[in-house]
Amino acid sequence: MNHGVVRQRAIICDVCGKARDWAYTGPFRSADRPEPLNIYPWCVADGSAAQKYDGTFQEADFEEFVTSASIQAVLKRTPGFPTMNPIFWPGHHGECCVFLGDFIPEEQPELLEQKSIREELGRIARELGLAEDDLRYSNNSLYTLLFQCSTCHSYQLSTDFS
Ligand SMILES: [Zn+2]
Ligand SMILES: [Zn+2]
Repeated sequence: MNHGVVRQRAIICDVCGKARDWAYTGPFRSADRPEPLNIYPWCVADGSAAQKYDGTFQEADFEEFVTSASIQAVLKRTPGFPTMNPIFWPGHHGECCVFLGDFIPEEQPELLEQKSIREELGRIARELGLAEDDLRYSNNSLYTLLFQCSTCHSYQLSTDFS
């Protein structure tokens, strides 16, 4: 799945009213948003777009142990990405992890050597009733999303299904 959500495009940002050369094209959930909506990525990152339209950039569930400030940062200041279903957003060391992109084992074989990745694949295999080896190859209906803890840099995985 393509998670590229920033495109080079001349816009007048609906949030700050300025001419910009880049547009955020990812998901944005808001009852108040104009359609179409032009947002400069920095107006995502500084929270002004979420504030102006009372919106969120991601539909996700979160760990119970992460701080609410960290959850708000994901929902209101982090570019979202398209998913098939609301995802579970991993947390570690008290904070929401950083989304890195799809985990594609064939393209990132070095990650399969990481202890935290192997632990995560084992956990997912148990939860889904799969063999761990099945997760070492891409699957047409199971998407694995790669996250990283910004404190200890361990990797965390989440899943999405088509
Ligand atoms: Zn703007
Ligand atoms: Zn950590």
